[in-house]
Parts: sequence; C-alpha cells; structure tokens
Amino acid sequence: PCAPIKKHAVVIGLGISGMAAVRLLKDQGYRVTGVDENKPNCPGICDQITGELSRDLAENTELLVLSPGVDPRREAVSSAAEKGIPAIGEMALGLRFLSVPFVAVTGTNGKSTVTELIGAMLAASGKTVFTGGNLGTPLCDFVREGCPADIAVLEISSYQLDTLESFRPDVAVLLNITPDHLDRYSDLEAYAASKARIFRDMNAGTAVLNYGDTRVRSIGEKLPLTRRWYDREERGIQIDEKGIHLEDGSFIDLQLFSLPGRHNRENLAAAWLAAEAAGASREGIIQAIREFKGLEHRMTPCGSIRGIPCYDDSKATNMDAVCRALAAFDREVVLIMGGRDKGGDYRLMEQCVRTYARAIILIGEASEALYRAFHLLVPCEKASDLDEAVRMAAEKARPHTPILLSPACASFDMFRDYKDRGNQFRAIVARHALSEDDA
Ligand code: ADP
Repeated sequence: PCAPIKKHAVVIGLGISGMAAVRLLKDQGYRVTGVDENKPNCPGICDQITGELSRDLAENTELLVLSPGVDPRREAVSSAAEKGIPAIGEMALGLRFLSVPFVAVTGTNGKSTVTELIGAMLAASGKTVFTGGNLGTPLCDFVREGCPADIAVLEISSYQLDTLESFRPDVAVLLNITPDHLDRYSDLEAYAASKARIFRDMNAGTAVLNYGDTRVRSIGEKLPLTRRWYDREERGIQIDEKGIHLEDGSFIDLQLFSLPGRHNRENLAAAWLAAEAAGASREGIIQAIREFKGLEHRMTPCGSIRGIPCYDDSKATNMDAVCRALAAFDREVVLIMGGRDKGGDYRLMEQCVRTYARAIILIGEASEALYRAFHLLVPCEKASDLDEAVRMAAEKARPHTPILLSPACASFDMFRDYKDRGNQFRAIVARHALSEDDA
C-alpha cells in the first residue's frame, strides 16, 4: 500500500514563533516548507527552505502560517487566502491544540507587564501557569508538550489578532489603544479594530477594560459580555497615588508595589481583575504584588555616570510609552530617542516633551523627523550612534538630571531588537562610568 500523502504547510518567517510552528506542524505529520528572506540556511527541520514566497508556493499548500512580521496583505498571501487556503498566525495554530483555560492580554502598551503580573498572581494562588505567546515561549511549544499547566496567560499583539481563527479566551484584557504600528495599518481606526478582535468570538467569559481610555471604553460599551472596568469613576477599581480602591470598598496600599508611575498602577488594576476572574485568591494576588519586580528594559535603572542616574526604557517603542515614562519620573530628564520610524505624528508628544525634557539627543533613522517635531520646544541634537548619544546626554545632564533612553521608535535600524538596544545602552553607560572614575 502507498504511504498516505502528507499534508503540506508553508511557514513564512523562521524566527522564534515561526520555528515553533514548524516543530508543531512536523509533530502533526505535515510536510513543511519554510520561507525566510534572511535565513536561507535555516536548521534542517523544514523539509524544504526557500528565500522567496512565490504565488505558486502559497497556492499549492493546505495551510499558510505567517509570522507577526509578515504583512498578510502581501500578494502571494492574499491570493492564496482568496482560494480558501487558511493564512493564520503561529498563535492561531497553537490555539487549535490548546486544552486548558486561557487569559488573553492585548493593548498598545503594558501587555508583557500585565501578562507576567497575572501569571504571578495565579501562581501565588497555587495554580501552575504558562505565560507566553508574544513574549517568552511561543504557544506552539507549550501545546507540543501537551499543555502542562492549569491555565495559560497569553500576550497577544495586534498582528497576532489579525491572523486568528476562532478565539475564545476565558478572560480577555484590553489595556489601551494609542498610536502605534501606523506603518502597517491604514489609520488608527484600523489599528483599534484589530485590537477589538480580542473579543470578537467571545460569547462567555469576562472582558477586563480600561475605562480611562476612550477608544477602549467605546469598544467595551458595546460588548455583550461580563465586563470588569478599571479606572472608572462610579464603579470598578479606582486608582490613586497611594493605592487602589476595590469595588467592595477595601483599599490596597501600594507602598510595596515596586513599579513606578500611574501606568503601572493601571497595569496592576487590570491584572488584579483578570487574575480574579481566572480564579486567583486575594492572598495570592497581594503576595504577587509584593514580590513582582517588573521586567527588564522598562524604565529600568542601569547605573550612573558622575552621579547622573541612567534608565533603560528601550521597550518604549511608541509615543504613549515615552510620555508615560516621562510622567512617572515627574522631573526633568535628558531624553535619548529615535530609531526606526513607525509612521506616527510625533507632535502628539509635544506637551510631555515640553514639560519634562531638558534636552533631547536623537539617534537613528527617525532623527530628522523628531528634530523637526521638537527642536523649537527643547534643545535637540543628533548623535551618530548610541555611544555618542550617551556622551552628549551626560554633557547636557550635568549636574544631576537623569538620562532616559526611551526611544518612541523601533530598534531595527541599528540593533537586533529592543533588548539588544537596551543591553548596548547599559554596556555604554557602564563604560562611561568607568572612564569617569579613571579621570
Ligand atoms: P508591551 O508588551 O505592550 O510592549 P510592556 O509591558 O513591555 O508592554 O511595556 C512597554 C513599554 O510601555 C515600556 O516602556 C513601559 O514602561 C510602557 N508601559 C507599560 N505599561 C504601560 C501602560 N499601561 N500605558 C502606557 N505605557 C506603558
């Protein structure tokens, strides 16, 4: 007898999530073709590798799996989709095999922080938890192991929301919607519509929503789901300088919460409601709040040069993240910004830049656009690389104004990713600190 003909899948983009999709598909008996323009020599796990996605290839397959960096509007993809060939993301593929309840977290900013906080709250409540998706371990790797957890908490980006099949989280969190990725979406409405997809297929479960964000509010008001709002005046969790007021009248003092800024108190309120809806105990939630130390490259202190404290906020790749960081400092800083432009209008930052930036040092491809937006408001100078930027910032920062790397841009023009940018910044700060000691 003939061996059965294997189903064929094409995985486009062989990064971390693409390779996880390849592994899962191989386990499932697929013949897999990998496509990656930059990695024609990918590890031998694919049956076939090519550097170019042809229309022919995309149409001679049962399934296309797109990495987040691949635009679904590409002609080969859209023509295959028109022929009824599913074009889905790695997260959608993993969801086909997910057998435990899950919480999904999206928003422009705060996804990783909130995902980790919810995970910590559930873990401190005695559950075994998988946190991953857009951060850390891809979902496909988790399901390949047979979903070894009581519950999964998944961070999901808008690109992943755009390439889902049916999506029914038990708890879905929408944190905020501010301008980002406008190089990929036609406008802010299209980007907001992508974020709203987190609720699209839910007919049960809980939606956790930020009442203080007008775009989130208008999405939430129409939802026929159990809604838990935070930052709402009449009801829901309230946030103030000292702590949070719960709906039952109790007050949680946040002296012991180590993350700075109002945005992190919002993150905490969102995580609280989501963890509670997913079965966390009050004691577990409070323990996690005490122990949570935050993630790297988010307003992270990273040493000092001549007594000038330096902060690595390399993960701030859009305007709102930068403004929230500046507001959290609530004092003048010397700001290092720039990188690859994402298509927003930098003038939206005018107010916060004027209030908090003593000077701005610009790096990368967006330097010119940022210079045009801000040079009449604050002193702006361009640096040729990050090393020079740190040196110039240290000059401007005398005597004690903090230096903040908070770029408002993607990193890919000069660095591998935001982590690489943040790590290089730290290394440069350490080097400058040393040479100052020698001087
Ligand atoms: P994401 O996973 O959505 O990128 P992170 O938790 O990694 O979110 O944070 C990314 C950046 O956004 C950091 O610079 C952080 O300081 C900032 N940030 C975190 N939470 C919020 C929030 N709720 N609103 C605005 N900015 C935030």
